[in-house]
Amino acid sequence: MTQDDPAVPATGTDSPSMLDKARKNLHRACEHLNIHPDVIEELKWPRETLSATLLIRMDDGSRRAFKSWRCRYNDRRGPTKGGVRFHPNVRLSEIETLAFWMTFKCAVADLPFGGGKGGVSVDVKALSRTELERLSRTYIEAFAPFIGPDRDILAPDLYTNGIVIAWMADEYSSISGQPSPTAITGKPVAFGGTAGRKDATARGGYFALRHLEKSLEIDPDKATVAIQGFGNVGYHCAKLLHADGYRIVGISDSSGGIHDSDGFDPLAVMEHKHKTGSVLGAKGHGKTREIAGAEVLTLDCDVLVPAALEGQITAANWADIKARVILELANGPVGHQADLELTKKGHVIIPDILANSGGVIVSHLEWVQNRSGYYWDNSRVREHLKTTMDRETQAVWMQQTELGVSMREAAYIHALRRIAEAVEARGTEAYFEGG
Ligand code: NAD
Repeated sequence: MTQDDPAVPATGTDSPSMLDKARKNLHRACEHLNIHPDVIEELKWPRETLSATLLIRMDDGSRRAFKSWRCRYNDRRGPTKGGVRFHPNVRLSEIETLAFWMTFKCAVADLPFGGGKGGVSVDVKALSRTELERLSRTYIEAFAPFIGPDRDILAPDLYTNGIVIAWMADEYSSISGQPSPTAITGKPVAFGGTAGRKDATARGGYFALRHLEKSLEIDPDKATVAIQGFGNVGYHCAKLLHADGYRIVGISDSSGGIHDSDGFDPLAVMEHKHKTGSVLGAKGHGKTREIAGAEVLTLDCDVLVPAALEGQITAANWADIKARVILELANGPVGHQADLELTKKGHVIIPDILANSGGVIVSHLEWVQNRSGYYWDNSRVREHLKTTMDRETQAVWMQQTELGVSMREAAYIHALRRIAEAVEARGTEAYFEGG
């Protein structure tokens, strides 16, 4: 394992642009707060990022190497917390950017956590199940000294589902020499997981949208929705909104998209996807047509839910976006310039650090339950999630109204104020000069 040279900015080994762009939100938030420069200095770079090459024995006997990372961006508010993603495009700057976002997401939700993230550059679909298990366990073996319930807590992300997380938690327990479920959240319920984690990210976004329905003048019985990404988050969001009367008119996954102005039943589309591996071919209530995956973003609808990958709405397509409201369930689906242009045009973007914070809110409950050994039922988890989402969504909405800024700026201001308090509580330059 190698530790990146702390004298060199970690992103110096990769494109710096992604983290640089993410930090623009920090600088914009600073303009509205009287933040001590110590705080900005501290948030400029990740606290630590480790990289490791994972060497796996493949089923045919050959050896293969996979690049992997784990980043702890900032831990002033508590141990770092963040998912591990398995995806061919994973790279260092992406992991650091995601860890930066997690720092702000945990602060928006007022959780006692900092931000972290990890990933492996791998195409999961090209691995057998046994190869995937070896890779998941080797990731933990490589990073075990770096993680832990009071240091850095892992969770699911792209292509790291329940069984992958179970292998990881099992490996961490083996290395620790005792059952240690608390270092990894998102575990199956039978293995120390919490009720309500599976759909928590989608449900959190759903609560945020429902909380804002009146302010945004959305009528669920008339509103139409397009969803990009039909995995855990996209599917559960579609299901919840559909049950409340919203009409789901567009759905896409990595194989392409489907459109039906009379709407889809998300359950039927998921059944079809289970059988065929794709949403393509699923039928809606009217004249269903297949569309290119990217077209789902520009469909005529009221609410657009990007729930796949980052960087989906950019200079290339922002002008074609028709949805008045964008509920960001993926991390960073709207690029920086596109965000400014869409906001200027009057679109309302419910930002990722608020909209998809439901996952980490319920992960926090899992961590609490693992520590106490007392487990909550689903209704108690949901109630807590709703209370938290309503409270923080309202706070962000009030902030944007008072300052006349976008919801994204308001969310960053709200989070930065909390992070700054944690940094400043340890003393700033002004305190030491006075001393
Ligand atoms: P998942 O692996 O279950 O599903 C991802 C879905 O996106 C799949 O349906 C896949 O086919 C689709 N997809 C991939 N590339 C696509 C493309 N180019 N166009 C359209 N669809 C595409 O992942 P998930 O857990 O649902 O996560 C989705 C997003 O939400 C990710 O950005 C993740 O970082 C974010 N997120 C997830 C959680 C969580 O709790 N799972 C929490 C916070 C944020």
